[in-house]
Amino acid sequence: MRPILMRMVHDFDTETGAEPRIRQMLEAAGVRCTRQRLLMASIVLRRKQHLSADQVLALANQTRQVVSKATVYNTLGLFARMGLVREVIVDPQRTFYDSNVTEHHHIYNEDDGTLTDVGQDEVRIEGLPNLPPGTEVHGVEVIVRVRIRPV
Ligand SMILES: [Zn+2]
Repeated sequence: MRPILMRMVHDFDTETGAEPRIRQMLEAAGVRCTRQRLLMASIVLRRKQHLSADQVLALANQTRQVVSKATVYNTLGLFARMGLVREVIVDPQRTFYDSNVTEHHHIYNEDDGTLTDVGQDEVRIEGLPNLPPGTEVHGVEVIVRVRIRPV
Protein backbone atom coordinates (compact mmCIF):
# COMPACT_ATOMS: atom_id res chain seq x y z
CA MET A 1 0.00 0.00 0.00
CA ARG A 2 1.32 3.40 -0.92
CA PRO A 3 1.71 5.81 2.01
CA ILE A 4 -0.42 8.51 0.39
CA LEU A 5 -3.41 6.14 0.21
CA MET A 6 -3.05 5.26 3.88
CA ARG A 7 -2.88 8.91 4.86
CA MET A 8 -6.04 9.78 2.92
CA VAL A 9 -8.05 6.99 4.53
CA HIS A 10 -6.77 7.98 7.96
CA ASP A 11 -7.93 11.55 7.32
CA PHE A 12 -11.32 10.30 6.20
CA ASP A 13 -11.84 8.22 9.33
CA THR A 14 -10.86 10.92 11.79
CA GLU A 15 -11.94 14.07 10.02
CA THR A 16 -15.49 14.15 11.31
CA GLY A 17 -16.03 17.67 10.02
CA ALA A 18 -15.80 16.49 6.43
CA GLU A 19 -19.13 14.75 6.16
CA PRO A 20 -21.60 17.67 6.49
CA ARG A 21 -19.78 19.57 3.74
CA ILE A 22 -19.75 16.50 1.48
CA ARG A 23 -23.42 15.85 2.17
CA GLN A 24 -24.23 19.46 1.24
CA MET A 25 -22.29 19.12 -2.01
CA LEU A 26 -24.25 15.99 -2.98
CA GLU A 27 -27.59 17.54 -2.06
CA ALA A 28 -26.79 20.76 -3.93
CA ALA A 29 -26.03 18.66 -7.02
CA GLY A 30 -29.31 16.77 -6.66
CA VAL A 31 -27.68 13.48 -5.68
CA ARG A 32 -29.54 11.45 -3.07
CA CYS A 33 -27.19 10.66 -0.18
CA THR A 34 -26.52 7.02 0.55
CA ARG A 35 -23.76 5.65 2.75
CA GLN A 36 -21.76 4.48 -0.26
CA ARG A 37 -22.19 7.73 -2.17
CA LEU A 38 -21.07 9.72 0.89
CA LEU A 39 -18.03 7.49 1.22
CA MET A 40 -17.10 7.86 -2.43
CA ALA A 41 -17.75 11.60 -2.41
CA SER A 42 -15.55 11.91 0.69
CA ILE A 43 -12.75 10.18 -1.21
CA VAL A 44 -13.13 12.02 -4.52
CA LEU A 45 -14.24 15.53 -3.51
CA ARG A 46 -12.05 16.14 -0.49
CA ARG A 47 -9.43 18.02 -2.50
CA LYS A 48 -8.49 18.93 -6.05
CA GLN A 49 -7.25 15.68 -7.51
CA HIS A 50 -7.49 13.22 -10.38
CA LEU A 51 -8.36 9.65 -9.46
CA SER A 52 -9.04 6.62 -11.63
CA ALA A 53 -11.98 4.36 -10.78
CA ASP A 54 -9.49 1.70 -9.63
CA GLN A 55 -7.84 4.16 -7.26
CA VAL A 56 -11.25 5.14 -5.86
CA LEU A 57 -12.10 1.45 -5.43
CA ALA A 58 -8.81 0.80 -3.62
CA LEU A 59 -9.36 3.76 -1.28
CA ALA A 60 -12.98 2.80 -0.61
CA ASN A 61 -12.01 -0.74 0.27
CA GLN A 62 -9.48 0.47 2.81
CA THR A 63 -12.39 1.72 4.90
CA ARG A 64 -14.72 -0.52 6.85
CA GLN A 65 -17.28 -0.42 4.04
CA VAL A 66 -17.18 -2.90 1.20
CA VAL A 67 -17.87 -1.32 -2.18
CA SER A 68 -18.10 -3.27 -5.43
CA LYS A 69 -16.35 -2.25 -8.62
CA ALA A 70 -19.75 -1.81 -10.32
CA THR A 71 -20.88 0.56 -7.56
CA VAL A 72 -17.70 2.62 -7.95
CA TYR A 73 -18.16 2.94 -11.72
CA ASN A 74 -21.89 3.70 -11.45
CA THR A 75 -21.40 6.27 -8.70
CA LEU A 76 -18.54 8.03 -10.48
CA GLY A 77 -20.67 8.13 -13.63
CA LEU A 78 -23.53 9.64 -11.61
CA PHE A 79 -21.20 12.23 -10.06
CA ALA A 80 -19.98 13.16 -13.54
CA ARG A 81 -23.50 13.52 -14.93
CA MET A 82 -24.50 15.70 -11.97
CA GLY A 83 -21.46 17.95 -12.40
CA LEU A 84 -19.64 16.97 -9.21
CA VAL A 85 -16.61 15.64 -11.09
CA ARG A 86 -15.30 15.89 -14.63
CA GLU A 87 -14.33 12.84 -16.62
CA VAL A 88 -10.94 13.22 -18.25
CA ILE A 89 -10.41 10.43 -20.78
CA VAL A 90 -6.72 10.28 -21.56
CA ASP A 91 -7.02 7.04 -23.53
CA PRO A 92 -9.66 4.32 -23.91
CA GLN A 93 -8.20 2.38 -20.97
CA ARG A 94 -7.72 5.33 -18.68
CA THR A 95 -10.34 7.74 -17.38
CA PHE A 96 -9.68 10.10 -14.51
CA TYR A 97 -12.33 11.65 -12.31
CA ASP A 98 -11.37 15.25 -11.69
CA SER A 99 -12.74 17.03 -8.63
CA ASN A 100 -11.86 20.37 -10.23
CA VAL A 101 -14.90 21.04 -12.42
CA THR A 102 -13.81 24.49 -13.57
CA GLU A 103 -12.56 24.77 -17.15
CA HIS A 104 -8.91 23.82 -17.37
CA HIS A 105 -6.45 21.77 -19.38
CA HIS A 106 -4.09 18.94 -18.44
CA ILE A 107 -0.62 17.57 -18.87
CA TYR A 108 -0.66 13.77 -18.96
CA ASN A 109 2.59 11.96 -18.26
CA GLU A 110 2.39 8.71 -20.24
CA ASP A 111 5.33 7.23 -18.34
CA ASP A 112 4.12 7.64 -14.77
CA GLY A 113 0.39 8.01 -15.48
CA THR A 114 0.02 11.32 -13.67
CA LEU A 115 -2.34 14.08 -14.69
CA THR A 116 -1.52 17.69 -13.83
CA ASP A 117 -3.80 20.71 -14.09
CA VAL A 118 -2.98 23.48 -16.54
CA GLY A 119 -4.76 26.80 -16.10
CA GLN A 120 -7.16 28.02 -18.77
CA ASP A 121 -4.92 31.03 -19.41
CA GLU A 122 -1.78 28.91 -19.89
CA VAL A 123 -2.94 27.58 -23.26
CA ARG A 124 -3.83 29.82 -26.17
CA ILE A 125 -5.87 28.27 -28.96
CA GLU A 126 -5.83 30.05 -32.29
CA GLY A 127 -8.29 28.87 -34.87
CA LEU A 128 -10.92 26.21 -34.55
CA PRO A 129 -12.32 24.02 -37.33
CA ASN A 130 -15.60 24.93 -39.01
CA LEU A 131 -18.33 23.73 -36.72
CA PRO A 132 -21.21 21.58 -37.91
CA PRO A 133 -24.24 23.74 -38.83
CA GLY A 134 -26.38 24.69 -35.87
CA THR A 135 -23.68 24.11 -33.25
CA GLU A 136 -21.58 26.36 -31.05
CA VAL A 137 -18.40 25.77 -29.05
CA HIS A 138 -19.26 24.44 -25.59
CA GLY A 139 -15.68 23.90 -24.46
CA VAL A 140 -12.18 23.06 -25.60
CA GLU A 141 -10.02 20.78 -23.49
CA VAL A 142 -6.36 20.23 -24.25
CA ILE A 143 -4.35 17.26 -23.00
CA VAL A 144 -0.61 17.78 -23.47
CA ARG A 145 0.98 14.32 -23.50
CA VAL A 146 4.53 14.10 -22.19
CA ARG A 147 7.11 11.38 -21.67
CA ILE A 148 10.15 11.38 -19.45
CA ARG A 149 13.05 12.54 -21.61
CA PRO A 150 15.81 9.91 -21.86
CA VAL A 151 19.09 11.05 -20.27
ZN1 LIG B 1 -7.77 18.58 -13.66
